[in-house]
Amino acid sequence: MSIRENLERVRERIAKAAERAGRSPSEVKLMGATKSVPPEKIREAAEAGLRLFGENRVQEGINKMEELEGLELEFHFIGVLQSNKVRKAVEHFYAIHSVSSLKLAKKIDRVAGEKGIVYPVFFEINLSGEESKSGFLPEEFFSALDELSSLSYIKPIGLMTIPPLGKDPRPYFVKLRETLERIKDRFGPDFKELSMGMSDDFEIAVEEGATIVRVGRAIFGERK
Ligand SMILES: *Cc1c(COP(=O)(O)O)cnc(C)c1O
Repeated sequence: MSIRENLERVRERIAKAAERAGRSPSEVKLMGATKSVPPEKIREAAEAGLRLFGENRVQEGINKMEELEGLELEFHFIGVLQSNKVRKAVEHFYAIHSVSSLKLAKKIDRVAGEKGIVYPVFFEINLSGEESKSGFLPEEFFSALDELSSLSYIKPIGLMTIPPLGKDPRPYFVKLRETLERIKDRFGPDFKELSMGMSDDFEIAVEEGATIVRVGRAIFGERK
């Protein structure tokens, strides 16, 4: 299967899942998750109409952006972000989905402030409480809300989660949606995105309200 065919299939599956849930397929943005995917394949996907991409490593992402310059793609950062890479990430990526602690949010805020910009972020929530996972624990997130909403140079636009492996993901997607609904008023009208769903579960995520699905293998094939 070519990347174009894979993309068509994934788009169809998103559309069907949206219809099942009474949603319009246009409410769901498809992001290509391209860690370890070479730029030629990203170009193929771009030629088949994909514009939004997610990278897990700052330098790997920047290298690809440089190779693909001129294509007008939008790259988001979706991986674990180390504090010393924040500046580079903010300079090159359109948004960060994996803001996983108050400390990281403050660092992004400081860097954006120095640059005189307001930078779009998602808060990553660790809904399973697994220690190996990054993200705010829910109670940690709720108690950080006052401080988070006082940061002037980040613009929170949504929440992100990765459900635990090997479990039914649906309750985690439901929980993320409920969390967003519960705190919607804290961050203004642009705070509405739910970044959830990957190759094995994006249809369930769409049924439960995802506005951005991050799909790697179903588009680009298995990673080496
Ligand atoms: C790798 C990755 C994805 C995509 O995973 P697939 O199973 O290949 O679809 C999505 N989100 C994040 C944060 C990832 O690291």
